Amino acid sequence: MLFRLSPNTPRFEVFRLLNAELLHFLEQAVNTKTFSRALFTQGALGQACWDNAKENDVRATSDLTRDKFKKLFTALNDAGKDTKQQLFVSMRDSQDLQLFFFNPPRNLFDFLNETCRKALKSLCTHLYCSTKDVPNIVRVSGGINITAHFNAYREQAVNGSICKACGMKELAAFRAGIPESDQWRADYDHQLCKSKYPIFAVHPDNLVPLCDVCNQDAKKAKDLFRHKNGTNRLAFYPYNEEAKGLIVIEIENLRDPEPKIKVKWNTQDDALLDKLNTWDEIYEICSRVEGQFRSLEAIIEDEIRPKDSTHLASRISDEARPNPINTLKRKEWAFWFQKLFFTLDQVDISPFVAKWNFVQQQAADGGKYILFG
Ligand SMILES: [Zn+2]
Repeated sequence: MLFRLSPNTPRFEVFRLLNAELLHFLEQAVNTKTFSRALFTQGALGQACWDNAKENDVRATSDLTRDKFKKLFTALNDAGKDTKQQLFVSMRDSQDLQLFFFNPPRNLFDFLNETCRKALKSLCTHLYCSTKDVPNIVRVSGGINITAHFNAYREQAVNGSICKACGMKELAAFRAGIPESDQWRADYDHQLCKSKYPIFAVHPDNLVPLCDVCNQDAKKAKDLFRHKNGTNRLAFYPYNEEAKGLIVIEIENLRDPEPKIKVKWNTQDDALLDKLNTWDEIYEICSRVEGQFRSLEAIIEDEIRPKDSTHLASRISDEARPNPINTLKRKEWAFWFQKLFFTLDQVDISPFVAKWNFVQQQAADGGKYILFG
């Protein structure tokens, strides 16, 4: 994450309860050979999961929550008691995600056979994609649905409306005159992706709303703890680690017609460098920033609109001042532009200004020519 999550970030109660239900189910399954209501928690949530079944819903064309639980139960039973015990212990012992990020167990589910793995994935995906929105599940979880949770997450006094992973995009457009319950929301990213770490599909600490570029274009199902080339890596824990203070922008070849703007890491610490590289690889941070900043001339023209070279220098100094935290929480790209102008304020930009003056003069002369031929 570029910015850590706010300490007052609300956890989504539906996820907390569904996660606890899954853990309870796996524990009960260890010593049971028959699928029954007794595998679920006694209270309202257990009942709501049990009731959400194909046989109770005439409109259902595919498996619902209870059916998915049953398929997992059958697969685990066939695999034997050791498998059931090991799955329960693996889930129970990895509930503290901060610890998990500190020392990630990467081969957590290698012991599961293909049938169990598929059934587990199918159940967990269903819990996240469908069960969380079942009206009865929401009702027995306190009545806060995911849109209400998102609105609470996005409050300016909580996380604000800018994506924590990149700082470049709003999570979702906010529309005036539209009730809270009908506002658009961002998708929730599974930090530990559903396909490789299914048991965290509804873990409340594993789900973070991100902008669509981060979630859908860049991250997809990338593994935080293993690079695609197979090497192990570490990742920032979103609640207490961030990249924000570890970044500098450098400008190369300021004398060239097109200076190159580069994102660099401002630390020598190996563990932090590893996490920064993971963050960059997952969300494609550097290439997105360097892409946005591909023309310094265009940035000056669009952001500064200088009247002359003195105005240019004073405007750059202005924009180099650090942003208040509230601005970072509501303005797209604010972090990155400030970093760029901070660098521009530190370096000798006179060659660039000279070129810029020349181009302006050319444009003015050209304009005169067009006007007065
Ligand atoms: Zn983003």
